[in-house]
Amino acid sequence: QPVVDAKTGMIASAEALIRWNHPEKGMISPGIFIPALEESGQISELSFYVVKQVKELIRARLLCGKKTVPVSINLSWMDFYDETMINGIIEQLQTGEIPRGMIRFEVTETSYAALEENRLGVLNAIRKEGAKILLDDFGSGYSSLSSLNVMHFDTIKLDKSLIDYIGDRNGEKLLLHITQLLQSFGMTITAEGVETSDQVEFLKNLHCDDIQGYYFSKPLPVNEFEDFVRKHTGL
Ligand code: C2E
Ligand code: CA
Ligand code: CA
Repeated sequence: QPVVDAKTGMIASAEALIRWNHPEKGMISPGIFIPALEESGQISELSFYVVKQVKELIRARLLCGKKTVPVSINLSWMDFYDETMINGIIEQLQTGEIPRGMIRFEVTETSYAALEENRLGVLNAIRKEGAKILLDDFGSGYSSLSSLNVMHFDTIKLDKSLIDYIGDRNGEKLLLHITQLLQSFGMTITAEGVETSDQVEFLKNLHCDDIQGYYFSKPLPVNEFEDFVRKHTGL
């Protein structure tokens, strides 16, 4: 799914969102099969697969001289307990086939337990390879402000539930103070689940950095994503 620069409306980055097109059952939502893969202990294989797919897409585009944007990949809290897989991901970042920083990682607050159990080392090792770390779903309900104290995140992704406050007086006040707090920490802000022009205008006024949501684009299959990049950069 494209992520757009709030100021320019140009594509700034993207998020990799997995899809399972089942031969008989059709599209199955990641909301269904991700928890199942976590339960069966296979989620890290999926994370590794996504890293390889994203890397291959970026590499292929670079080889053709096409414009590339950083792509963020969702990590599950379980990934932090799978050292072999994490090392495999780090090795993928070290091959030098794509520029540093082209791959980013999103972690959710469900990872805190793992992170607090001294697994911050894992994130720091990933970061050492030039990958930014994004805190996903901020404000989704489980969020504790202490998460901001666990480590410095490069970017905070404001959950859709916060964006839906726009239009409500107190909700808007809350959003204003949350963004000011995050900005004072030097974190960049991406708003998620943005669907209306009113929301876009409000977020621009807050100096929110990037915007992701149906207003600009739904998640797209790779070929349509490539069309989007062409249209929004001319390359
Ligand atoms: P997420 O990481 O919070 O991803 C954002 C979700 O919001 C995506 O749902 C996206 O399609 C949806 N979305 C984006 N813009 C809008 C909008 O304007 N309005 C509304 N209503 N929804 C919007 P999706 O693709 O169904 O993914 C659901 C969740 O599944 C993701 O939530 C993420 O937690 C998980 N997921 C998806 N791909 C992967 C993956 O490769 N690995 C892992 N571990 N988890 C993944
Ligand atoms: Ca995400
Ligand atoms: Ca999210």
